[in-house]
Amino acid sequence: MAGSFRVARLFGIELRVHISWVFIFAIVLYSLWSDVFAHYGWSDQKRITVSAIAALLFFSSIVAHELSHSLVARRFNMAVSSITLFLLGGVANLRQEPPSAKAEFFMAAAGPGMSLVISGIGLALWFGIDTSALPSLQPVSAVAGYLGVINLALAGFNLLPGFPLDGGRVLRSIIWGSAGTGGARRRSPRAAGSSSPACSSCGGSSSSRRVRTRSGGGRSCSRTSCTTRRRSPSARSGSAASCPEPASGRS
Ligand SMILES: [Zn+2]
Repeated sequence: MAGSFRVARLFGIELRVHISWVFIFAIVLYSLWSDVFAHYGWSDQKRITVSAIAALLFFSSIVAHELSHSLVARRFNMAVSSITLFLLGGVANLRQEPPSAKAEFFMAAAGPGMSLVISGIGLALWFGIDTSALPSLQPVSAVAGYLGVINLALAGFNLLPGFPLDGGRVLRSIIWGSAGTGGARRRSPRAAGSSSPACSSCGGSSSSRRVRTRSGGGRSCSRTSCTTRRRSPSARSGSAASCPEPASGRS
């Protein structure tokens, strides 16, 4: 994605940040500071520190969501070029469509599964920490509660049975599997020729030669532009992510 830069490498997959991510990070940080953590009676310095930590952990959970998609995709021999955080959430850039209904099912389900695991841990800490007995752990409880709720919402949103969300891919994989090999053969070319979502933290998608799973909001590239790119040599090589896709994981 043009305008993004590499910040790390996780399990051999590039983690990139698009310049637009700075804006959504600022918005999330402000909402945490001015609303979510505003009623605890903390000092301004403590509130902004806790808000910043919570915001970073939230976007880390989006990365974990996308990374789950990516690692499962790689388990099924699909190449993953990078994960990018941007304005609408996160997106995992895959270079090909899932080879089978089973692969698509597990790849699509992996992201929401990770979000649910994070949510479970966060909610457990939130309910489990007795802040009246351990007041020093109040910030930990507050951040854990926020992460628990936001990741639960993220998983729920991405499991909606429509494209380009993870739920749409899960549904398609079930239909694909139910149709059998013949149905799979009929569906593969069409799936490869379109961009379909596989993800979530804010959304998620994948397209034939270049598949993207995203977390975040909506899809921003047009089918026409995506098709054009797929036909180009660079698109076929999957070397660069030029088709912006929204993420839904964002919240
Ligand atoms: Zn996802």
